[in-house]
Amino acid sequence: MSIVYLALGTNQGDRLQNLRRAVQLLESAVHVTRRSAVYETAPWGVTDQPDFLNMAVEGHTKLAPFELLDALKQIERAMGRQETIRYGPRVIDLDILLYDDLILQTERLEIPHARMAERAFVLIPLQDIAPNLVHPRLQRAVSELAAALPKDGGVRKFSERITLTDGTTNS
Ligand code: ADP
Ligand code: MG
Repeated sequence: MSIVYLALGTNQGDRLQNLRRAVQLLESAVHVTRRSAVYETAPWGVTDQPDFLNMAVEGHTKLAPFELLDALKQIERAMGRQETIRYGPRVIDLDILLYDDLILQTERLEIPHARMAERAFVLIPLQDIAPNLVHPRLQRAVSELAAALPKDGGVRKFSERITLTDGTTNS
């Protein structure tokens, strides 16, 4: 069993509902053990698009890294994500941030996620659930990486928790 941290992002349709649906669909691949609050973030890269909601989750998985990537892409497709431009609008984006202490650099998959240390919309949610987690390549805790971000990362708290249809909330 491996411990993984995933980032979720959405900026199309009913964004909160997209996060709820994604967390539920994830259960087939990852047993989710912690969920961050939900944050709203101005778009990055392509700025002429709706704001994103972002969150991070921790979970346990039996899947190997590439199997997990395939499972995440399958969920993205099941939720109707269209192939569009990079950094463009999407119903759901599911990224692998960390997978145990693994360091992996391939064309299809890079772990830790290549840009996580510069992204406030990743580090701030991740800090909610794993402040002391150490980035295996940078050897810095998530809280240290978050503290080093430029002051206004454009990330604001949107809601404390999402409520799933089974009534459970994150905390
Ligand atoms: P974004 O960079 O905005 O997340 P995509 O979701 O379209 O863009 O992902 C582009 C590609 O990034 C995916 O097809 C996947 O193969 C690759 N990739 C590399 N590392 C990772 C990772 N850690 N998590 C998810 N996808 C990754
Ligand atoms: Mg992605």
